[in-house]
Amino acid sequence: MIDDLFRRNRAWSIARQERDPDFFPRLARQQRPAYLWIGCADSRVPANEIVGLDPGELFVHRNVANLAPPSDINFLSVLSFAVAVLKVQHVIVCGHYGCGGVRAALLDERNGIVDHWLEPVRGTYRRNAARIEAIGSEADRVNALCEFNVQDRVQDVAATTIIRDAWAAGQKLAIHGWIYGLADGLLRNLDVTVAGLEDS
Ligand SMILES: [Zn+2]
Repeated sequence: MIDDLFRRNRAWSIARQERDPDFFPRLARQQRPAYLWIGCADSRVPANEIVGLDPGELFVHRNVANLAPPSDINFLSVLSFAVAVLKVQHVIVCGHYGCGGVRAALLDERNGIVDHWLEPVRGTYRRNAARIEAIGSEADRVNALCEFNVQDRVQDVAATTIIRDAWAAGQKLAIHGWIYGLADGLLRNLDVTVAGLEDS
């Protein structure tokens, strides 16, 4: 199984170089992505692939349920590097319908350590419980919480000192909330973009 991955890698590398001989030397010199993607770790939501971007075009951070916790040094390091060094112009928080992490938070399941990680999603549920509980089917309630989760995580990103200081310094930077449909492969814009201190 593992050997197969190396075979696939060699085939991919050869095919890329045949299409564009300067592809790898160019990337090895520098990355200049205009976007930071904050998405779910779910294997069905491959960031570059669903937006049709090549290596070098998307800076990616993924975790369970696409969270942006202000206590997570991993997330903060990625965000800081993306904003201060790469100077990305867009931060995309992308959730997806049918998210297992969101479902676990909604149903208050016990899965171990990840239960602690999912606390921000439970907070989002508590703040929107009346609207979510008015929805008929469980799958639709999960999907509604998936959308509320993206909205709140956009606000979490916008509330970081990293973003607020960048805006205060005049840096152009927009934070977007999108959601991906596993069933049709399509992205939807939740229209919750925050583009400056006056929006947040
Ligand atoms: Zn997920």
